[in-house]
Amino acid sequence: MKILSVNAGSSSLKFQLYEMPEEKVLISGVFERIGINDSFYTIKLNGEKQEKHVDLPNHKVAFEKLVKELEENKVVESLDEIKGIGHRVVQGGTYFDKTVVATEDVIEKIDELSVLAPLHNPAAITGIRAAMEVVPNAVQTVVFDTAFHQTMPEENYIYAVPYEWYTEHKVRRYGAHGTSHKYVSRRMNEILGRTDTKLITCHIGNGGSISAVVNGKCLNTSMGLTPNAGLIMGSRCGDMDATIVTYMMDKLGVSAREMDTILNKKSGLLGVSGVSSDSRDIEDGIKDGNHRCELVQKMYVRRVLDFIAKYYVEMSGCDAIIFTAGVGENSISTREQIMDGLKVLGVTLDPENNNTRGKEIKISGDDSSIPVYVIPTDEEVMIARDTYELSK
Ligand code: ADP
Repeated sequence: MKILSVNAGSSSLKFQLYEMPEEKVLISGVFERIGINDSFYTIKLNGEKQEKHVDLPNHKVAFEKLVKELEENKVVESLDEIKGIGHRVVQGGTYFDKTVVATEDVIEKIDELSVLAPLHNPAAITGIRAAMEVVPNAVQTVVFDTAFHQTMPEENYIYAVPYEWYTEHKVRRYGAHGTSHKYVSRRMNEILGRTDTKLITCHIGNGGSISAVVNGKCLNTSMGLTPNAGLIMGSRCGDMDATIVTYMMDKLGVSAREMDTILNKKSGLLGVSGVSSDSRDIEDGIKDGNHRCELVQKMYVRRVLDFIAKYYVEMSGCDAIIFTAGVGENSISTREQIMDGLKVLGVTLDPENNNTRGKEIKISGDDSSIPVYVIPTDEEVMIARDTYELSK
């Protein structure tokens, strides 16, 4: 059965077509600069990558091009072969704790939740509508980033602010990257050969979050009402004294929206280093002796350790720690520094195994009190799996 996995952003649309249940990727690609000038798309097929420059005024046109590529490249004989299309949606609020079929009622709720994810939810709806029009016979499903975190107990999701903010304005911790935390925690349980586990999953990429996962269910996670909570990220500040916000709004005379942009786009690695939001550039800066790069790297590692320590105590122990996403899968030095901070718990490093990028591997020593793994994440295959189950 052919299943399409779709991730629509405000100006982009990524896709992967799978043969299920084999989980074989038949073709993948990304449409960029949709609705703006110089739009183009890239397609990966049989190990070859092609880039095509075409006008993409909206998501529907992008979807039509996608379908045409599938047909012209004979990946499908007829569109009826595509039985399911799974869409990634960032914010599912408290409505959704699992993947669901995209009915009108579901789309209405995603729309209602746009206040909590103003850039992402409307884009996802555009993608769902485009897919419904172009491939009307496929089952359309929605896979929520927040769904996995819906099992958190209320003491972990309520903020210490007036309770009415929660009841009247939906202010609570929702978390994000749920599909990734779920994927790596399941894979870890497979490796350990059991499901009664206490895991700390570190999804550290440009955005980053850490989760405590007990017996396959999320107990706590570092992102909050929005992704700008918890860890220091590429350009997001993560946790900080909330009063800095109002203090600096007064000092700088900026609006709430402008402050939001500063805290999301101009903070984190970028804000402190003044160099870049990309950890590769921070590593280069450290080699060149740049103090602010050294400083932010120490802060970054410290914050990751804070959450590992917190969740270790919260779970009364830990059976495995997992690193995933851009930094977690690729930054040898960041992993080494985090592991160094975990020595107090009896964690040891296997330097040779750690000296690898982008592959599944145990990086802790055989004598380590807690096994530590790198597990490359695969959110797309999770979308395909759920969609396959609902389309069968
Ligand atoms: P996103 O949150 O956008 O999905 P990713 O998980 O793709 O982000 O992570 C991208 C980040 O991963 C980059 O910004 C960079 O900081 C980091 N990264 C990627 N490759 C490397 C590498 N070889 N060494 C260090 N950091 C890397």
